[in-house]
Amino acid sequence: MIAAERDARFREIRDKVEAEERLSLDDGIFLYDPSVSLQAVGELANFVRERLNGNVGYYNINTHLNPTNVCVYRCRFCAFRKDLRDEKGYAMTDEQILERGREATANGCTEMHIVGGLHHQRKYEWYRGIISLLKENFPQIHLKAWTAVEIDWFRFQTKKDFRWVLEDMREAGQGSMPGGGAEIFHPEVRDQLCEHKANTPSWIEIHKTAHQIGMKTNCTMLYGHVEKAYHRIDHLMRLRELQDKTNGFQVFIPLAFHPENTGLSDLKKPSGLMDLRTVAVSRLMLDNIRHIKAYWIMLGIETAQTALAYGADDIDGTVRHELIYHDAGAKTPEFLSVEQIQHLIREAGREPAERDTQYNHIIRDENDFTKWRTGESVDAISPSAAIVS
Ligand code: SF4
Repeated sequence: MIAAERDARFREIRDKVEAEERLSLDDGIFLYDPSVSLQAVGELANFVRERLNGNVGYYNINTHLNPTNVCVYRCRFCAFRKDLRDEKGYAMTDEQILERGREATANGCTEMHIVGGLHHQRKYEWYRGIISLLKENFPQIHLKAWTAVEIDWFRFQTKKDFRWVLEDMREAGQGSMPGGGAEIFHPEVRDQLCEHKANTPSWIEIHKTAHQIGMKTNCTMLYGHVEKAYHRIDHLMRLRELQDKTNGFQVFIPLAFHPENTGLSDLKKPSGLMDLRTVAVSRLMLDNIRHIKAYWIMLGIETAQTALAYGADDIDGTVRHELIYHDAGAKTPEFLSVEQIQHLIREAGREPAERDTQYNHIIRDENDFTKWRTGESVDAISPSAAIVS
């Protein structure tokens, strides 16, 4: 495509975005073309980001819990899983899980992010028991637990349906679902990465069922491995289609592939330019998902900061005990303090605001940081009111 045609095509897309018209598959693929200025795509995504979320950069105070790394599957991109007899294989005890809850409470965490392997010698009751143990002892902490891959495994274990599993876990204390396990939906790619675990229709059905019972979920895309632009846009459009039906996704998180110690270690990790373009294109394609997260653990602090000007309005949390991406070579710190995270958001020109998992404001006790109450939804505040001059 010659430069004049490219510019005209970009203007066409910009007009659609400004008029709040939906972008097509072809529009998305065009925006991924390296000859289309990243700066221009980023500016357009930033326009949408500010239209939706003003000048705010959201974060939360959270911790991770990976109850086991033993897993029956062997996804090629995964550096976390271990065999049962591997010396690094583990399954946490109740006391270790309680200790994580005590530490989270002392750090003022509002959220525990719980995902792990599918341990073939642990029954469903063990997984359910983790949720009920934490809920009974730390009722204020929101449990964002189990990807669709785990819910699918629980269905296999219990021989019940998705709704039963989700309702049973909710009764135990699960508050919402993370977005992992989506990888890339298109079978040309998914079959190369993880042909055995929950397939695309199951992932979609599980999130749809969660939304139908009133449980909010997150959604993700693992990019930067064997997929092409077409597969990424196809993935985003499948998420957008489900969101049209259920409106249950809270945030989209593009996840950059990290190759170290994986079955795809011959690949390079995606560049910072690809990371920023993916954040921006996601913001432009997902017109019905309010928040886009630049997950600093995966992107690195500098790219996550920059992404706040390329469509992202959230950089995730303080995070402790992250194993999955550090096992795959992530060089980011193990956690950030609240002061550090607020500083990096301010340095990016945004106003930091603490949110909970479900995007409500968090109001901290002035005298005791570990105590908080939930305020109104951040989405209830108009972006213009959130713009800080
Ligand atoms: S990505 Fe999840 S399901 Fe796949 S091997 Fe790793 S732990 Fe198991």
